[in-house]
Amino acid sequence: MPELRRDLVRDSWVLIATDTALKPRDFPINKNGIEVNSNGALCPFCEGNESHTTAELASLRKDNSLPDTPGWLIRTVTNKYSGFKLEGELKLSETGIYQSCNGLGQHEVIIETPEHNVEFHHFSVEKIKEVYEMLKARYNLLADDERIKYIQIYKNRGLFAGASLEHSHSQILALPLVPKNRPGIEAYCKKEGRCLICDILNEERKSGKRVVIENRDFIVVCPYASRFPYEAWIIPTRHAEHFGEISDEELMSLSEITANFLQEMVRCLNDPSYNIIINSAPINCAYNAGYHWYIEIIPRLIINSGVEITTGIYMNPVAPEIAAAMFRENMAE
Ligand SMILES: [Zn+2]
Ligand SMILES: [Zn+2]
Repeated sequence: MPELRRDLVRDSWVLIATDTALKPRDFPINKNGIEVNSNGALCPFCEGNESHTTAELASLRKDNSLPDTPGWLIRTVTNKYSGFKLEGELKLSETGIYQSCNGLGQHEVIIETPEHNVEFHHFSVEKIKEVYEMLKARYNLLADDERIKYIQIYKNRGLFAGASLEHSHSQILALPLVPKNRPGIEAYCKKEGRCLICDILNEERKSGKRVVIENRDFIVVCPYASRFPYEAWIIPTRHAEHFGEISDEELMSLSEITANFLQEMVRCLNDPSYNIIINSAPINCAYNAGYHWYIEIIPRLIINSGVEITTGIYMNPVAPEIAAAMFRENMAE
């Protein structure tokens, strides 16, 4: 089982693999560039290779096919490598000044398609909706477990986004603690008595400069303080804390706006690596109000440098006003 260790300096947590270790040659990046062994290697996510993943937790299947056999459209399995287990209780340990806890939680992989070369941004609106439905079902199921305090849904597409397999997939990380990754949300609500994301939504609509598109339930904006060039957020216009609260109608309009924007983004930015991140409120614990779920879409056009790693101050060479105008113009064509 991995260990979560407290980073005392940054007041955050680090997940450390304690019983397996990658050797230097297992890493794909070296001083000469990048080696990706996509040719010839067996893909565990392709149809027919079901025995190369852990047992299926859930799936969308045609023709009553059996679990862990071909015939699926979407498959959810546990991440083979992270070692999280949703068993027993959270155990905090202290060694001298250091604190750690056991890797209690769940790390799931949603294999979005049986086809190796069809990616998320190629999917039809209906197919994207099926993926979001699976994510919603898994989110709500994990949220029912009292030991889980926070659920992060994310997707890594391409090597620069951290993907280790090219076959289209998303991941869900269910944690026994709440990471302090967005402290401004609770602080704003405490000070102003209002939801920060709702206020951002109003501010963006008022100015319009950073709005890319809007449909009946969602708005796409390039955020005011974008950390990455051409970063965009999809914000639900109805205030809700959790992605799991999305209605069926909203799932449809989310799928439409995702397909619409993502296809354009991939085309405009010349097929970049990207991350898609779904942020929700903590669960099963006391926290201040003010959370409002939203999605971040981050094209990975530049690699974080020393300054970002140390100061947390990102250097973004493209103003979000310019990014939004470019997306708007291209989408209007
Ligand atoms: Zn594959
Ligand atoms: Zn709100």
